Amino acid sequence: MSDAPSRTGIPQAVILGAGYAGLSVAKTIHRHARSRIQVVLVDRFPEHVLRTELYQVDEMAAPGTKRRQWALPMAEVLDSHIARFVQGNVTGIDLSSKTVRLETGTVPFDYLVICLGSVPSYFGIPGAKELAREVYSLDGAERLAAQLVEVERSAAKVAWSPPPRIIVAGGGSTGTEVAAEVATADWKDLADPAAPAPRVTLLTGPMPLLQGFPDPIIRHSRDLLEKSGVEIRENTPVARVEPGQLTLKDNSTVDFDVCVWCAGVEAPPVVAQLPTEHGHGKRLKVSPNLELADHPGVFAVGDVIDYANPGSGVLVPGTAQAALAGAPIAGYNVVARSLGKRLKRFSYHEKGVIISLGLGKGVGRAGPVSLWGRPAYVLKSLVEAEYSLAVERG
Ligand SMILES: Cc1cc2nc3c(=O)[nH]c(=O)nc-3n(C[C@H](O)[C@H](O)[C@H](O)COP(=O)(O)OP(=O)(O)OC[C@H]3O[C@@H](n4cnc5c(N)ncnc54)[C@H](O)[C@@H]3O)c2cc1C
Repeated sequence: MSDAPSRTGIPQAVILGAGYAGLSVAKTIHRHARSRIQVVLVDRFPEHVLRTELYQVDEMAAPGTKRRQWALPMAEVLDSHIARFVQGNVTGIDLSSKTVRLETGTVPFDYLVICLGSVPSYFGIPGAKELAREVYSLDGAERLAAQLVEVERSAAKVAWSPPPRIIVAGGGSTGTEVAAEVATADWKDLADPAAPAPRVTLLTGPMPLLQGFPDPIIRHSRDLLEKSGVEIRENTPVARVEPGQLTLKDNSTVDFDVCVWCAGVEAPPVVAQLPTEHGHGKRLKVSPNLELADHPGVFAVGDVIDYANPGSGVLVPGTAQAALAGAPIAGYNVVARSLGKRLKRFSYHEKGVIISLGLGKGVGRAGPVSLWGRPAYVLKSLVEAEYSLAVERG
């Protein structure tokens, strides 16, 4: 498919995944190496998806909304002189022959950076993958938005119809944002003037609501969710999903019109299959240089890694913020490896966390400062704009 590296004499760095991490790695390699390394960026989609904004299912449900609001065409975020973009689905990575398999051919590499993100974890729960919706991908979020409109319209047609029952499984930040968004959306405007407000229930599994977040954020989130009519049921792990019904571990059942699976993520299958050391959710274990232990020149960054900060031992979270912090280190280290220079170590310092809670409100912490309501929401919008700017300018 592409020139073998030896043919041009210029080493080839292949980056898998054009998400937050991948785009930023491509730009970093170009900045440090210029034409000394040729960069190939591979993604299955011809666009960069703004994944941090996929909880906005009500906006997706609005008539006339364009997919483009969440998906930036590759040509807009990547100049062809920085990297050659190859659209393709990665089906295999052969670390010994240094080739990447796509459905359409193979791509050889001298250096590899794996930035393939994550996929929903279903934990082997029967029916979850087949019957629940998800917002971890743009296609998934769009399907959810369309189904919400459909159930609202159906309910509007029947006089005295009970409100549609929406279950959100997973009480982390994604589940919390989705539950708030669905509960506060104006379905009369989005679906039908006679549409009833949905009945939204947020189920947390074995982990409590927003585990790992500071206590004041959890308290305010709970308060705002409950004011928006979201019922929170904690410690209600799901055992089985069937059409229109969840069975919980205690054998009780919950009916639903729409079930949204927000129970967490794991490494994509092509990463999970790699013969190297894996950590939680089959993520890749990497050295502080973000390199695979037995494979110098093969790096990984973003949601695909299982990495604890050196010193503190605290796990680096699977967030765009962490992906964008690690990417410049991985990109620099590709160039350093090619020049025989000393590699940099990755250490992560979180700037803060912010959760959107619908109706222009949110909760969050930026450094030592806690924010509630409108200011938190405004900051969240600014951070999201910063993420898209970061991938556009690198
Ligand atoms: C609803 C939601 C809200 C979020 N909010 C926040 C937030 O507020 N702040 C924050 O920091 N993080 C947030 N996150 C998390 C954040 O989106 C991820 O941590 C981030 O996207 C990880 O970046 P990445 O580059 O590792 O992966 P991604 O951005 O997911 O990029 C991975 C890329 O790999 C491509 N790919 C995957 N498999 C293949 C394959 N086999 N072949 C070819 N291409 C492939 C994908 O198409 C994608 O372009 C949120 C996530 C969700 C779902």
